[in-house]
Amino acid sequence: MTPVLIDGKEVAASVRARLSGEIEELKKQGKTPGLAVVLVGEDPASQVYVASKVKACAELGLYSQKWALPADTTQQELVELIHKLNADDRIHGILVQSPPPPHIDEEAVILNIDPRKDVDGFHPANVAKLVLEDESGFVPCTPMGCMELLKAYGIETAGKHAVVIGRSMIVGKPMANLLVAKNANATVTIAHSRTQNLPELCRSADIIVAAVGRPEMVTADYVKEGAVVLDVGINRIADASRPRGYRIVGDVNFEAVKEKCSYITPVPGGVGPMTISMLMANTVKACRQQLV
Ligand code: NDP
Repeated sequence: MTPVLIDGKEVAASVRARLSGEIEELKKQGKTPGLAVVLVGEDPASQVYVASKVKACAELGLYSQKWALPADTTQQELVELIHKLNADDRIHGILVQSPPPPHIDEEAVILNIDPRKDVDGFHPANVAKLVLEDESGFVPCTPMGCMELLKAYGIETAGKHAVVIGRSMIVGKPMANLLVAKNANATVTIAHSRTQNLPELCRSADIIVAAVGRPEMVTADYVKEGAVVLDVGINRIADASRPRGYRIVGDVNFEAVKEKCSYITPVPGGVGPMTISMLMANTVKACRQQLV
């Protein structure tokens, strides 16, 4: 079977084109959506992610603030900054780049973000809204991007069996919630490190979402003929043939699996490009909601 390659870059670009129109409308009403990105410490990967988020804001004409705090910033200082941003009318979305240094209690920090500005969708109020299917809430960006990809390619989810591998609050659990919601109607199984007979379980899936963090774990043995495979994984593996000494692979063994799929996301270029576009979408939504 020749699979359709799901082109995340193309879908992400069309999402941004759609947002541009909305942003123009908001600007006509005197409002520019604003995002504050807070980074504590100097983790190189986090610095890259933060820079891409700020760049995406600039490209779309959004207002942004970047707060790069030293690694020894205290919990108290970080929380004080969050409170300041909660009160800042120019800021509609607040994001604290994960992971913070070990002395910071990330969950306690998130509790201090005004849920109306929680564009990562991590605050318990937004987790509850996702479960309640209350669309005024914010959904974490990566699973939201996966749903957008399914929609863009007209992939039916109703009545299908979806296996989500991974139960994190960032990807696995919200992904499962989105798939089982009444506007998607999938039958969902969530798998994790204690799941037994995972390959067999996955072979019963029409849709597999891999969010494990284990390079190329999902092999052809996990996939039934004609399944849809979304690969969320971003893993670095050593590769001496590359100038930088590594390459990025997903949680799915793409070469082995692609022969069996109807649709598959490549890594890179599949799910990855959607995440920042969804962050922009959440920031625009936050702005719209804070207008009223
Ligand atoms: P976490 O480490 O938080 O969660 C991984 C999940 O996989 C856990 O639930 C874990 O189970 C499960 N797991 C681990 N090993 C196995 C196994 N052998 N069999 C079955 N399940 C297993 O990771 P994240 O959810 O944050 O991220 C997952 C992947 O997605 C990573 O590669 C990450 O880099 C990538 N990612 C990509 C994003 C993007 O923008 N495209 C954004 C966010 C993440 P248990 O709960 O039992 O430990």
